[in-house]
Amino acid sequence: MKYVLVTGGVVSGLGKGVTASSIGLLLKACGLRVTAIKIDPYLNTDAGTMSPFEHGEVFVLDDGGEVDLDLGNYERFMDIKLTRDNNITTGKIYQSVINRERRGDYLGKTVQVVPHITDAIQDWIERVAHIPVDGKTGPADVCVIELGGTIGDIESMPFIQALGQFSYRVGAGNFCLVHVSLVPVLNVVGEQKTKPTQHSVRALRGQGLTPNILACRTTMVLDENAKGKLSQFCLIPAENIITLYDVPNIWNVPLLLRDQKAHEAMFKVLNLHGVAQEPNLEEWTCRAESSDLLHEPVRIALVGKYTCLSDSYLSVLKALLHASVDCKKKLVVDWIPASNLESATAKEVTPIMNHYITSMFYLLLFIVEISSICYCSILQNPDAYKAALKLLKGADGVLVPGGFGDRGVQGKIIAARYARENRIPFLGICLGMQIAVIEFARSVLGVQDANSTEFDPHTKSPYIIFMPEGSKTQMGGTMRLGSRRTYFQTKECKSSKLYGCKSFIDERHRHRYEVNPELVARLENAGLSFTGKDETGQRMEIVELPNHPYFIGAQFHPEFKSRPGKPSPLFLGFIGAACGQLDAVLQSSSIVDNGLSKGVGSEISAVNKAYKNITATKTAAYRTEYIYGSCNGLHF
Ligand code: GLN
Repeated sequence: MKYVLVTGGVVSGLGKGVTASSIGLLLKACGLRVTAIKIDPYLNTDAGTMSPFEHGEVFVLDDGGEVDLDLGNYERFMDIKLTRDNNITTGKIYQSVINRERRGDYLGKTVQVVPHITDAIQDWIERVAHIPVDGKTGPADVCVIELGGTIGDIESMPFIQALGQFSYRVGAGNFCLVHVSLVPVLNVVGEQKTKPTQHSVRALRGQGLTPNILACRTTMVLDENAKGKLSQFCLIPAENIITLYDVPNIWNVPLLLRDQKAHEAMFKVLNLHGVAQEPNLEEWTCRAESSDLLHEPVRIALVGKYTCLSDSYLSVLKALLHASVDCKKKLVVDWIPASNLESATAKEVTPIMNHYITSMFYLLLFIVEISSICYCSILQNPDAYKAALKLLKGADGVLVPGGFGDRGVQGKIIAARYARENRIPFLGICLGMQIAVIEFARSVLGVQDANSTEFDPHTKSPYIIFMPEGSKTQMGGTMRLGSRRTYFQTKECKSSKLYGCKSFIDERHRHRYEVNPELVARLENAGLSFTGKDETGQRMEIVELPNHPYFIGAQFHPEFKSRPGKPSPLFLGFIGAACGQLDAVLQSSSIVDNGLSKGVGSEISAVNKAYKNITATKTAAYRTEYIYGSCNGLHF
């Protein structure tokens, strides 16, 4: 087993996760089998109880592990399926050592950070690195380990100590350290400053780790002078200093590594010459470059709670991107904070009919704007409301993602209603599905107080209820988590067709509440169709509106299994519907692989080939052009 450790210096947020994923992808493209481990030095046991505001989304694995979002990047780039143990935290390590101490494993000894915690870290890494994650038997050839945080953080000290020892445990030729650091450009002349990186390498060496490769994050290619300085002061050969300059999208990062021969540098350190081949990234290159050239937009309104932080919905954005690229459309996401769609009055008196009956003023408004959702006029922030409404009305598709708590719920209901009534493609994920059901009950069944017990524990019309097996006292790891099976109830619905008319699918879950099974018949009699259920038939997994261009809600999170080139079927259908390609998508979806769509098919492949011809010659020039700003506007 070979190990590639990725550390970070100078500042956080440099893109260590993307770098680690790209290294994994590059090595995989060299014919090696890869796995990955993320070390998060915080004390939490896992990411499950952390706020998406602070840490970005909680990624969910097949085994129900609630983990750091970087594991999502690894899975997407390397096309692997990780386990909860692939995310190590200080909390998990200490818990395991304390459990052993209680059991008496260290009887008579003083339990200390060195050697007990550091040994536990090394044993954990070695054990987990050998778990196969690519569907094949036997361990991978290379394990990429990313150490979260920045060199110098107090909480990462035991991990650095352990990794220093680990490099001796596995021996020379089996351990390669890639240090990702920042090279800022301070003045208009564009002088690249190497001192912060020099200091960070010195700190790394001071803690017993020797970097083999430097990956420098910069706005432009490192000049020879800067490279020379880094090489001399950091004692790293110039050919092992890679520039990771800004690129239009992260799919270009593996290409930057390949173009600068990072694989050669790793082969040398890890004695892989003769074992690994030259990287074959043909398909990846084609996708990365063709996606940069897309210009026809597909506008998606994302109506959520954490809209100020795109990392909160990272996998949703990635899944939208995978589907849009497949449909040859440039993804434009319009963020709508759900609470901006609410009015002061709407918050007090939820059901729309109450407005209608109790006030002539609302009656007038209701008539004037009958075709839209605008029963809100007395607003807390009229400008924000107008802006939100404008974005909603301009959208080709409306997506309500997962979430917790009641803030913004009314706004999400308004968005779902708008999409249902105006026949705009709608995708509701987890909470988004529950919202769609509540909205339907209120508007179509006329149950004005229909609600979820999550938002009103004493509601008289509990359309969404707490799941019987859930725990109300323990918050960590007690949701319905991970891969669960959904059985299609008919082959005639869109969701079944999108999944290739399979009789069942496995998707990842993370929820505490569900559609009240006792009220399903009422909803179905009024026209809502529960097309996917669990093995008992009592738990609703997919809901659809049959007489709508595309209105689907899923209790699971399809975004977690979407991959570049293999978009999630429900996202592909959604984007397809939003850009008028649903029929083509449905046709091509009859060919599926592992529950992931193979894409829109030959038509698109032809376009891909055409792009490939253009881009093959443009590759290097394009990436260079971008850094000087001439390709502005090509961001997703
Ligand atoms: N809060 C809802 C529940 O627990 C939805 C969760 C989610 O969207 N992930 O069921």
